[in-house]
Amino acid sequence: MIAASLLVIALIITLLFDNQREAHEREIRAQGVALARVLSGLSLEQLIPSDGGPGVLKAISVSRSDDAFAYASTASPDGSTLHEITAPGVVVPQAEQSSDPRSWLGASEYALPNLKRNVIEFHAPVFDDGQLTGHVRLAYFTDNAGISQQQLQFFAMLALPIFLLTPIFFFFLRRELGPLRRMGEQLGGALQEGNLQRIELEASGELGVFIRSLNDFLERTGGRFAELESEQARLITSTKLLSYKKTRIERILESLPETVLVLDDTGTVCYANTRVAAVFGKQIDGIIARQPEEWCKNDELLQFLNNCSGQRPADYLSKSFEFQPEQDPQKTIAAFAYPLFSPNDDSPSLGTLIVFRDITLEVMARNARGEFVAHVAHELKAPLNVLGMYSESLQGEDGDNEEFRIEAHNVIRDEVERLSDLIGNLLSITKIEMGSLAIDRQRMRLGEMLEDTFEAVKRGARRDDIKFEIDLPKNISPIVADKALLRIAVNNLLTNAIKYNRPDGTVSLSVDESDGELKICVRDTGIGIEAEERERVFEKFYRSESEPVRAVRGHGLGLALARNIVQLHHGDLAVDSEPGEWTEFTIRLWKDAEAIKLAI
Ligand code: ADP
Repeated sequence: MIAASLLVIALIITLLFDNQREAHEREIRAQGVALARVLSGLSLEQLIPSDGGPGVLKAISVSRSDDAFAYASTASPDGSTLHEITAPGVVVPQAEQSSDPRSWLGASEYALPNLKRNVIEFHAPVFDDGQLTGHVRLAYFTDNAGISQQQLQFFAMLALPIFLLTPIFFFFLRRELGPLRRMGEQLGGALQEGNLQRIELEASGELGVFIRSLNDFLERTGGRFAELESEQARLITSTKLLSYKKTRIERILESLPETVLVLDDTGTVCYANTRVAAVFGKQIDGIIARQPEEWCKNDELLQFLNNCSGQRPADYLSKSFEFQPEQDPQKTIAAFAYPLFSPNDDSPSLGTLIVFRDITLEVMARNARGEFVAHVAHELKAPLNVLGMYSESLQGEDGDNEEFRIEAHNVIRDEVERLSDLIGNLLSITKIEMGSLAIDRQRMRLGEMLEDTFEAVKRGARRDDIKFEIDLPKNISPIVADKALLRIAVNNLLTNAIKYNRPDGTVSLSVDESDGELKICVRDTGIGIEAEERERVFEKFYRSESEPVRAVRGHGLGLALARNIVQLHHGDLAVDSEPGEWTEFTIRLWKDAEAIKLAI
């Protein structure tokens, strides 16, 4: 407040001072011009005192009370000074007198470097009898605006009331602004608490009106705020609900075994689950918000995807597209497209859902089914041909030949046996694979079953050259198993051991019992199995291409069935061999129910 009042005083003084200076200059000019004219009317003798007295110029020098006088001088027509009166320290500046009469009367401004002040000089010619006898020069300081005693008093008189009025003004101002300040404090506090409440302030006049309007405004704004807050709370809840629903849907889509893509109505991918990486070798970021052209390198698949977004759903709904993914060509993937409709309105499709399903196993099964049927047809056809041929021959002339009849009888019996084995094996395998075989698990004496089977195979071998060896521990622990099925498995292993043995070879059956398991080993000294064939021999219809194997008849189902049976008992059938030397098949079975559970 004090600074402001000082500023006001300084401003007023500056303005007054400026005004004063201009008035002073105007006055000097008027006085200078008038005096110069008067002095010009005098002669040189009158201007220059001859008796050393004060003279006219001296009188002029003291005529002003404000020290504005700078100098007064007379000069000869050529400009040399004849007489001069100066204020203290003033050196009269040199002035070239012009010969042009028009410049003799006038005013000029000079700077006095030694005093660092400016003067304005008025000059006029002096004549005697019409002859130019000299010049008179009269100068005043133009910047002579120092503050006089009177002015100082005036300024003091002016400043005093301002100083005195300042605190009074300040007091009144504070009193008037008090309610406004309190109102500001209340408003600030309310805003900080986030609660727009009424301003409790008594005020009269315009401020009272203003506070009433403000309170009215605050009440309305507070009401609107409350509405907005409840709206916001509702929005937050529904956003959370939406995001929960979205997360749930995304989780469901993520946990699907299929790869899922969603194309919007422009054909751009707007959703993809993480499984896309396995099909397209690209992360989600490389697919989302992009057109299929940008990431799909398979032209036919690209055409399928483009068709989905460009056609009516009815045109693509029933179609699917199968392809081999570039980074895993062993696989077969099928793409299915479904239109997405909005649940709330009957607007056209919102986009297309594309589901990619790995159908590799289905394709393999499809192919295997075809191969299986071809094999079975072939295996059935061969013995049927033989039967047909012999029955025809028996009806003909050969039928009277006793020797031929015996041969035909033996062949027909063998082929029927073969057919019966084939059909029996096929039925068992199919039932096991379809899970429709009823297993009759019972506590059984393994030793007895093995001895029976061994003896039966030995009897039916019809080969005298083979040596049969059996080595069973005395008290083999009883096990829980389907005796009939296990018998088929052991029978198949023993039959193979005879079929693929060398002349004078040996077939041996042994059991090795340890704490938790039983090992049944069937060993022969036959043709052996090459390392690369050892897993394949368990495949259905697989038979080695080797000469000794081709020389023996078979369907390639015995080992597949044996392994299926052992696996039904949660056991394991493995083979080891030294080609040309020996082959050993080992059935591993868990001994008790607890062990079976463990194995499972
Ligand atoms: P099959 O004997 O009717 O051909 P299997 O399923 O019993 O069918 O056997 C499949 C194949 O495994 C045989 O064709 C043969 O190549 C091989 N194999 C099975 N057992 C033996 C064995 N003991 N010694 C050598 N090769 C065998």
